[in-house]
Amino acid sequence: ATAARKSLTIGLIPADGIGKEVIPAARTAIEALGSDIPNPKFIDLIAGFETFTRTGVALPEETVEVLKNDCDCALFGSVSSPSRKVVGYSSPIVALRKILDLYANIRPVVSVCILSLVHVDMIVVRENTECLYVKQEQQTFGEHGKEARATRLITERASTRIGKMAFELALARPRKHLTVIHKSNVLSVTDGLFRESVRAVQTKDSRFEAVTVAEQLVDSAVYRLFREPQIYDVMVAPNLYGDILSDAAAALVGSLGVVPSVNAGDTFVMGEPVHGSAPDIFGQGIANPVASIRSAALMLRHLGYTEAAHRIDNAVDSVLREGQLLTPDLGGTAKTQEVTDAIVKRI
Ligand code: ATP
Ligand code: MG
Repeated sequence: ATAARKSLTIGLIPADGIGKEVIPAARTAIEALGSDIPNPKFIDLIAGFETFTRTGVALPEETVEVLKNDCDCALFGSVSSPSRKVVGYSSPIVALRKILDLYANIRPVVSVCILSLVHVDMIVVRENTECLYVKQEQQTFGEHGKEARATRLITERASTRIGKMAFELALARPRKHLTVIHKSNVLSVTDGLFRESVRAVQTKDSRFEAVTVAEQLVDSAVYRLFREPQIYDVMVAPNLYGDILSDAAAALVGSLGVVPSVNAGDTFVMGEPVHGSAPDIFGQGIANPVASIRSAALMLRHLGYTEAAHRIDNAVDSVLREGQLLTPDLGGTAKTQEVTDAIVKRI
């Protein structure tokens, strides 16, 4: 995390669907911080499927330029994924991760007491730039018909930097425990490189000696995540395993509407609720704003505004614990605005 700066400029990209309802909620939460974040400046930016249907591009050049040149960080809402492949359309969030080199996807999963049967307090750190998601696929014809192949890229550089990020996060937590996820018993070359690179991070920085490290095969990690999630503190994984594990972990704590994330690199951080655009509830004013508000807190924490992040998280926790004002996904009848107002009041 970089040191806290004086004035913060935040790009807001609500994009599609309920993103338009929950990103404004996150903005009000930041504004409520007063002197902890003095004079935040917000810049409204467009991207997404609706932008694509209107202008022909999903991620306008201007949005990218403003993010790069004028913003310290950003909050991204959610994009609708078209059910069929649409010619010329590709996801702006995937493009932004690449352009801004946001190589880490960090997803804390913490149980909401009213919902969870188990106590979970963990962070899944997912490598965000390579693995099978380099999207190099080929289809050919072999002796027995069609064959398809995909390239899985693992580099020492990307594994090392995600490893560093994971060690830093583990070091900042009370338990200081890191689990490295891989499948190197089967994929000894690719997963072997990931595992070795992450482990080597510890030997090169004496601060990280304070972190205890465990390794786990991805299949057994999923099993144990469901059986005894409390054993995990910070988990680090290559892109595909991290994708699956982070959704599985989110399922442990109930609604998608409460799980935040950030996409982080060395020079930029972007908060993003884990949920999608939720077309089934869009327009009704009942989307849960908690995931976005927590994403704002996570973004601020990553930038070094620890106290500000703490104030937002505490306010959210207190509203959820009271259980009076909950959106329908949490079993209540409250509107987005009512929940936001209650959180803002507590901040
Ligand atoms: P997309 O294609 O954009 O991912 P989706 O149909 O997969 O859309 P998600 O947003 O991923 O929808 O959500 C899955 C389910 O969880 C939906 O029923 C949705 O209403 C619900 N949901 C997601 N986010 C929220 C939220 N913030 N508040 C309430 N319900 C939510
Ligand atoms: Mg979805």
